[in-house]
Amino acid sequence: MGLVKRSLGVFALAALLLACGCGGGKPGADGNSGPGNKPHAKLLVIGLDSADFKLLDPLMADGKLPHLKAFRAQAASGRMQSFYPLEKSPLLWASICTGVLPSVHGVDNFVKGDEDKPVTGSAWHAPALWDIIGAAGRTTFVNGMWVTFPARPIKGVMVSDYLPYGAERSRPLAGLVFPDSLTDKVVACRADPVSFTAAQLARFFPAGTDVAALEKAYPDQLQKLRNIWAADQGYLNVARQLKDQRAVDLFFFYLRGPDMISHGFYHYLAIPPADWHRDPAERAAFTEIVPRYYEWVDEAVGEVLSWFPADYPTVMVSDHGFYGPRNEGKGVVEHAEWGIFMVRSPLYTPGATFGHLKLLDICPTLLALLDLPPAKDMSGVVLAEALTPAGQSRIPHIEKNRVTSYLALRPAAGTTPVETDEKVDEEIRRQLRSLGYIK
Ligand SMILES: [Zn+2]
Repeated sequence: MGLVKRSLGVFALAALLLACGCGGGKPGADGNSGPGNKPHAKLLVIGLDSADFKLLDPLMADGKLPHLKAFRAQAASGRMQSFYPLEKSPLLWASICTGVLPSVHGVDNFVKGDEDKPVTGSAWHAPALWDIIGAAGRTTFVNGMWVTFPARPIKGVMVSDYLPYGAERSRPLAGLVFPDSLTDKVVACRADPVSFTAAQLARFFPAGTDVAALEKAYPDQLQKLRNIWAADQGYLNVARQLKDQRAVDLFFFYLRGPDMISHGFYHYLAIPPADWHRDPAERAAFTEIVPRYYEWVDEAVGEVLSWFPADYPTVMVSDHGFYGPRNEGKGVVEHAEWGIFMVRSPLYTPGATFGHLKLLDICPTLLALLDLPPAKDMSGVVLAEALTPAGQSRIPHIEKNRVTSYLALRPAAGTTPVETDEKVDEEIRRQLRSLGYIK
């Protein structure tokens, strides 16, 4: 049944793409359509969970984050309005990747049921970008995206979000990565939280901090930092080892650490000194972690960008912003409504600012950048501000030729067996709890 459905979906997509002239013409990176044998439009997406210009702008103005700053100058950019009421990252990223509402894609939490079982990849009821472009015969590399364990078959490589977990197991969990044949290579990329030396961790603290002494005084905080950095380092290692995959049509590099580090440490930054009632030395020691973590993120972003040509079409995006803890009636929330969006492409004017863009506009826009039409059941629009002449001739055409729906391309449920390990589940719950993601 799944196969029948899938091939029907592929057939429908192929027919629609031919009908709208979006498939065979293979417009090049200059964004102009037309006959010929130009290569497919390709795209690098860098997802930075919870990145917020409110934090980044002052750092850039201060001469920090050189790669993000240089990229922003080459990109059209703007604040991205996320969902309100504020939502959790898995729900938001699934909405970014599918272009449809959570009621349609089905990914709405970290855990489910009375036992708080971590939600697995079979929760996706709508096709993601990699399914949609895969049906058009095109390839994806994606790493670490929420709710992607077990990694399911896609056209390309999917490194699931479970890579940091279960490191003590003698044999890796089945489904850490698709294809299976990459398992050993990917597992070898894991970073061990214990391995970071005090000298390596010193970059996250004010100059002169005795990190070893700090770790003795605040072991839980240091453990959080170690775990979060190790997970991000692991995914950067994977992307580095598999960077021959950069020939894929969509290279989607995602870091969860910025959000995790913010949940763990933003309050040191956000609570004014006058309202700080604990040890001032603690505040002084941890208050720079979040901005300093972004300096590491900036280095990682710079490295990933360096694997591609200097003008490679690239999007940087977050799923929400970050505010720090505040009481909003129902309890303490930390996310903020406004995330970031930046696009470097021949279709958009460098340095321009988008007036208003919403989270559900991202998927249609990414599809347009890949030269594929969005679907009519995606409620967002392809961003039509800040267009260059090439964008003005291309975007309305793509927008006008929406396909009816991509939903038939959704992955068939149950095709990827789930190997569960109660120890790994508990390890995940422990981490989610320690950062306040779940109770
Ligand atoms: Zn968060």
